[in-house]
Amino acid sequence: MTKLQNLFHSICARVLPTACIVCGVFQDQQICIDCIRLLANEQLSNYECCCRCANLLNHSELLDHECLECTQNPPHFDESYCLDRYDGRLQKPLHELKYHGRLFHASGLTLAWNVLNPLDQREEIAGYLLPVPLSEEKLCARGFNQSWEIARKIHCGKFLKKNPHILKRHHHTHQQASETRVNRQRMVWGQFYINPTYQRLLEGQTIVIFDDVMTTGATLNEIARVLKDNGVSRVINWVLLRTLDSRLGKAS
Ligand SMILES: [Zn+2]
Ligand SMILES: [Zn+2]
Repeated sequence: MTKLQNLFHSICARVLPTACIVCGVFQDQQICIDCIRLLANEQLSNYECCCRCANLLNHSELLDHECLECTQNPPHFDESYCLDRYDGRLQKPLHELKYHGRLFHASGLTLAWNVLNPLDQREEIAGYLLPVPLSEEKLCARGFNQSWEIARKIHCGKFLKKNPHILKRHHHTHQQASETRVNRQRMVWGQFYINPTYQRLLEGQTIVIFDDVMTTGATLNEIARVLKDNGVSRVINWVLLRTLDSRLGKAS
């Protein structure tokens, strides 16, 4: 962002009130301080989650820090960090962004991510951050990729380079929303590919994939498979919202 844009945004923030994307109260931030407090109390990092897939752990899984499903049938990705549950307070703002084109909500969701920061802080990741892509057709129809709009301004340290052009997606018309995990895994197979221009860059790299929603994990698993087939050594998922009942076979 240029200095002029920064100045413009700071002037706007001072003179124009804005509505909190969660509760709608007018004040000076995209999310009010009360909602930030509520989100902080409810965020998934307060709970014991599987280090691989970020699903809530059962009591018997706590020692391993990994759910039984991931232990028995390990996904291609290595770690996942999710900010909040899908049926929490950020679902509505995300839907406003995705289905009603309210781009302003993207910066509010970025703010939530940056303030609450669900990540393990022990290391600074070096590599590339890639948003889950839309197909060219879907991108044209929607006008933007919601995952990229949220990810482009998240704080991620100086060694992680953001790039929305490396990972590409073929067009696919079937809707995933009501499918089971096994069906979704079948449906997403072969949907993603690496832009040949960037193929060599990935060798031995750590890649962070940013997604707005993780349901069964099938999409992220397929992306991780493609990345590892192309020489990537480690794949980490950063996800805004996580459905927590996906292992019951229902993708809500
Ligand atoms: Zn609020
Ligand atoms: Zn797991």
